[in-house]
Amino acid sequence: MTLKQRDKKHLWHPLKQHQLHPESLAIIKAKGCILTDEDGNDYIDAISSWYTSMYGHCNDYIIEKTYKQMQQLDQIMFSDFTHEPAISLSEELIKILPDGQNKIFFNDNGSTAVEAAIKMALQFHFNSGDKRAVFMAFENGFHGDTFGAMSVSGLSVYNGPFEEFLIDVKRIPTPDGNNTQHILNLIKDYSTQDNLAGFIYEPLVQGAAGMKIHDAHGLNEILSYCKQQQILTIADEVMTGFGKTGRYFASDHITTKPDIICLSKALTAGLIPMAITSCTQAIYDAFLSNDMAKGFFHCHTYSANPIACATAIAGIELLISSEIQHNIKQISKAHEAFELKIKNHPNVKSTRHIGVIFALDLHTKMERYGDLRDKLLKFFMDRGVFLRPLGNTIYIQVPYVISDTQLKKVYQVIEEALEIV
Ligand SMILES: *Cc1c(COP(=O)(O)O)cnc(C)c1O
Repeated sequence: MTLKQRDKKHLWHPLKQHQLHPESLAIIKAKGCILTDEDGNDYIDAISSWYTSMYGHCNDYIIEKTYKQMQQLDQIMFSDFTHEPAISLSEELIKILPDGQNKIFFNDNGSTAVEAAIKMALQFHFNSGDKRAVFMAFENGFHGDTFGAMSVSGLSVYNGPFEEFLIDVKRIPTPDGNNTQHILNLIKDYSTQDNLAGFIYEPLVQGAAGMKIHDAHGLNEILSYCKQQQILTIADEVMTGFGKTGRYFASDHITTKPDIICLSKALTAGLIPMAITSCTQAIYDAFLSNDMAKGFFHCHTYSANPIACATAIAGIELLISSEIQHNIKQISKAHEAFELKIKNHPNVKSTRHIGVIFALDLHTKMERYGDLRDKLLKFFMDRGVFLRPLGNTIYIQVPYVISDTQLKKVYQVIEEALEIV
């Protein structure tokens, strides 16, 4: 039996209607930018396996550092104990995180990083004797699938069964360069009616919405207004973090810095699941007290797993290396040239790019998980490129180690696709 056949017996996949899509492709190997399936077909991973494997799959340097840690200390609870990999990681991260971040709290995935951020914001106000229970978030944002994260996410098509259990969230549109005053007026209205505890946002790029890029200046105005109103600002950098936008973090493009930052995905270079919620000293200080109950009683068993910390440190070493920084610039330049080449194609409605992220919208209307999207995905896979369209958006987020030839092939299959849609 093939893996594809054996899969069907006991496995339940995420984001899947098994009745309509019973099959899953079995990948047996990944190296650099190449995925290999059980029939021996190769695919260029043009979305870095959901924005994680940015230094290439099975990166030798990262594996070596991880393996070394595995022989030294595998797991120890992080309540009552500490260890060198967590300490070093906190030191290295604070060096590159946006100004103001000073404390590192560990989680194990992007959703729980957001969950912890939401609880931190609520308890920050609670500890200060300020009753604030309402959140603010962008329309069409995505922050994860646990209850708090699902509540603040605005892509709610599939959240129907849970809606009545979600926390109260006010929505604002993303800034487009012309609507900033309108957004500020909305926030003013919300903050007189409700006590806004925090504003959570994907800085500059909304990944799941289809790599939608918004206006940095407008976002800055929103953040600066939130700061005046003690509405805590939470940057969800789970997708944008670690070089995707051409800077270490998307928040580096914006003058006003967040109070809290959520990190995951590329944090551990696609090797091991881990996440972090970082915050300013002021947030941390609001939890200091002689009263136990004012502490942050939120914990995951694998918090700060030493192996994952070692992996993350190796990832950061690569990220800040001149080689990777050079590659990011080269990919960004290549995207710019590709954008010029295709933006006037009759089937292209719009294009955008920042750092290693490139996206185009097709004129065609397409459901998020509809037929045309499936056909397009198959079209790319048949040509040896893994691209995963979202609605009518085709986007690229390639590993920083992609070769010129591989990147050209990614562009080429997109151009071919434009001829047939
Ligand atoms: C992927 C993602 C999450 C959720 O992370 P998981 O590890 O899948 O739970 C949250 N926020 C953003 C912006 C993401 O891209």
